[in-house]
Amino acid sequence: MSSTAAQKVLCVLYDDPVRGFPPAYARNGIPTLARYPDGQTLPTPAAIDFTPGHLLGSVSGELGLGPFLAERGHRFVVTSDKDGPDSVFEKELTDADVVISQPFWPGYLTAERIAKAPNLRLAITAGIGSDHVDLQSAIDRNVTVCEVTWCNSISVAEHAVMQMLALVRDYIPQHGWVVRGGWNIADAVSRSYDIEGMDVGVVAAGRIGLAVLRRMKPFDVNLHYTDRHRLPDGVEQELGLTFHDSVESLVAACDVVSIHCPLHPETEHLFDDELIGRMRRGSYLVNTARGKICDRDAIVRALESGQLAGYAGDVWFPQPAPNDHPWRTMPNQALTPHTSGTSLSAQARYAAGVREILECWFDGKPIRDEYLIVQGGALAGAGAHSYSEGDATGGSEEAAKFKAG
Ligand code: NDP
Repeated sequence: MSSTAAQKVLCVLYDDPVRGFPPAYARNGIPTLARYPDGQTLPTPAAIDFTPGHLLGSVSGELGLGPFLAERGHRFVVTSDKDGPDSVFEKELTDADVVISQPFWPGYLTAERIAKAPNLRLAITAGIGSDHVDLQSAIDRNVTVCEVTWCNSISVAEHAVMQMLALVRDYIPQHGWVVRGGWNIADAVSRSYDIEGMDVGVVAAGRIGLAVLRRMKPFDVNLHYTDRHRLPDGVEQELGLTFHDSVESLVAACDVVSIHCPLHPETEHLFDDELIGRMRRGSYLVNTARGKICDRDAIVRALESGQLAGYAGDVWFPQPAPNDHPWRTMPNQALTPHTSGTSLSAQARYAAGVREILECWFDGKPIRDEYLIVQGGALAGAGAHSYSEGDATGGSEEAAKFKAG
């Protein structure tokens, strides 16, 4: 790709705050990080046109890309209207060269949509997790798919740890007593436990899963994990980890399970009635990976029967979740909307990462291997390590129900 060819960049971002843009910021800035935990460098764009710590992920924030794309003569369309055949996204897609989308408000790129976009050559995930793209179709049609590896891994790990503690200690109902008025300690503690001494396990010990294990170590719990590749001996010893060669073995040995594998055909609906039935009665399940890794109705059934004592996380399917999605009203849940990876801190990193990827793309330079999911008609880079071929977007058209309702 040469910098002289004008391209159309179509970007799907979430809506601005209902109270207006920009919001009033709680802090004056964010800390500067030197490197990611494994030594990988943070994004290295030639320049940025935004203030780190500002809201970049909503439409008016436009990932801070407006001036850069205008200066290079590219067309830049930003919309939050992404679902259904009459959406701005679907209409603008027909002549788009590049699509940018965040997993929090995913612009689903199904096979049908990719087929309607003959110019599409690059799909960038502003974040991590490219399951909103039909990867099989991207492979077949030679569309490059990439994401900003590491940009929000620690953000998610922090959220997962927060939610494990919130569930086990039953924090949210206790806070409810404060807000509503009242002081009934007996009600407030009747489902509250210490996590100390419990068995805590992660499904996948990649960047996020390992960061969760490291953060849970000081709580004096017994740590477990399963993954397709085993961690180095030194890490297992340092953290006192028990490795399980199957997810079935892991869940049977744990009180708290946190999910950190990508969504791909191998992991879709992994947590179904059968697997949840193998968990200890009264287990806690946290899912900050992808909603579809859990069978929606099996989770509801397990909370209602008490097989699960609590469920938390931030990922749903589809997104946005319709207002009648049963997870909104099921008992003993501490869910958030998909927010963990889009803290203001994370936004600064993935906005810079997207800028780095675009600079490489327009200048004909290679995109970092660690950002690649699909390239040249095959899984590549990080994608070759963590994903399997196939499609996990089935049912995404239901996201249009949110707008309709
Ligand atoms: P990594 O690629 O570092 O880790 C993923 C791990 O999952 C790898 O170790 C991989 O194994 C493992 N894995 C893949 N398939 C399986 C399987 N079938 N069983 C067990 N382990 C498996 O990614 P991150 O840790 O950075 O992110 C993980 C996921 O978290 C993302 O794919 C995304 O879906 C989600 N995420 C959510 C966010 C949010 O805002 N809620 C933000 C960021 C990410 P191996 O590579 O060894 O084969």
